[in-house]
Amino acid sequence: MNFNEYPIESLMSITNRPEIVFTHGKGSWLYDNNGKRYLDFIQGWAVNSLGHCNDGMIEALNKQAQLLINPSPAFYNEPMAQLAGLLTQHSCFDKVFFANSGAEANEGAIKLARKWGRKFKDGAFEIITFDHSFHGRTLATMSASGKPGWDTIYAPQVPGFPKADLNDIASVEKLINAKTVAVMLEPIQGEGGVIPATREFMQQLRALTKQHNLLLIVDEVQSGCGRAGTLFAYELSGIEPDIMTLGKGIGGGVPLAALLSKADIAVFEPGDQGGTYNGNPLMSAVGYSVISQLTAPGFLEDVRARGEYLRARLLELSEERGFEGERGEGLLRALLLGKDIGNQIVEKARVMQPDGLLLNAARPNLLRFMPALNVTNEEIDQMMAMLRSILDTL
Ligand SMILES: *Cc1c(COP(=O)(O)O)cnc(C)c1O
Repeated sequence: MNFNEYPIESLMSITNRPEIVFTHGKGSWLYDNNGKRYLDFIQGWAVNSLGHCNDGMIEALNKQAQLLINPSPAFYNEPMAQLAGLLTQHSCFDKVFFANSGAEANEGAIKLARKWGRKFKDGAFEIITFDHSFHGRTLATMSASGKPGWDTIYAPQVPGFPKADLNDIASVEKLINAKTVAVMLEPIQGEGGVIPATREFMQQLRALTKQHNLLLIVDEVQSGCGRAGTLFAYELSGIEPDIMTLGKGIGGGVPLAALLSKADIAVFEPGDQGGTYNGNPLMSAVGYSVISQLTAPGFLEDVRARGEYLRARLLELSEERGFEGERGEGLLRALLLGKDIGNQIVEKARVMQPDGLLLNAARPNLLRFMPALNVTNEEIDQMMAMLRSILDTL
């Protein structure tokens, strides 16, 4: 169908979308309404862990759709229990609450920390977060985020989120007072430009929060579920947080998110927390398929190997073109361009012929790569060749 034949004008405009409509996808490839195909290194924004239309996910979705779609969140269902069991088995956490989006999971984490503060810490409620962090688009998670400009768009903000600097423990220590209940961070800042918290900083944070009886919350909506080469990015620093949130990759493309905590911190009482679709069997069944595939023997080793392969190719390119190197973990990586040409590259990559390439510039001076976790080395080579041909035209 022609682009003009779609009732696009009925959609509220919230971002500048190109004039194409995607119709189908498989693995690392997406197809648009003109039949053009695109090599996808965005994958729904680090969401499609197993690429487009993964067979295991389709099977789980079809099977569950014929069994039970929604009994109500007031009752247990099989996939909800099975997925919770799988997540606690493979993490340091004991309790899980399911949500529909990363922002909602983070809202849950904020509520849980505030409830814990009310119960055990004399009403302490402040959560220290970080400059350039991203925690979602609800009012509280926007307030928690350190994104420039977000303090004014929908002012007034939700109070109680003082901002520290990532990888600077003194900046965190300075903000601690009697009202502080927790520190919340992304182990790898994703939207901020793929900036990892160092292992040393994570260990200092764990020690500091223990010393002051504060909760340590990791927002692993982007870094979790295999993206960083381990099932969860906190594992890279050898620490155990108190609370973790998951989103994006856990559903592999369907709306699913989760809030996890240690047993003694799970202080919600009946009525404190909920939501119509929380623990929905259809989404939970897909999440179970995704996490089962990620934890299958050898899968995460392969992610690490492909992450290393991508890293080596990006470093070669950086040397060759005089860029400033690369950073990241696993298959969440950034190429540091050293100049603001990121958006120009993204644009040219998408419109190139005969095949397009989907890339993201999380910041104008870098490119972010978040391919499917089962991307092949051949697809990485293909992407690099396409990227080189674009750079040649600049
Ligand atoms: C994407 C993201 C969110 C928000 O998730 P939504 O599902 O869009 O609400 C929160 N935290 C991090 C680290 C993210 O990358």
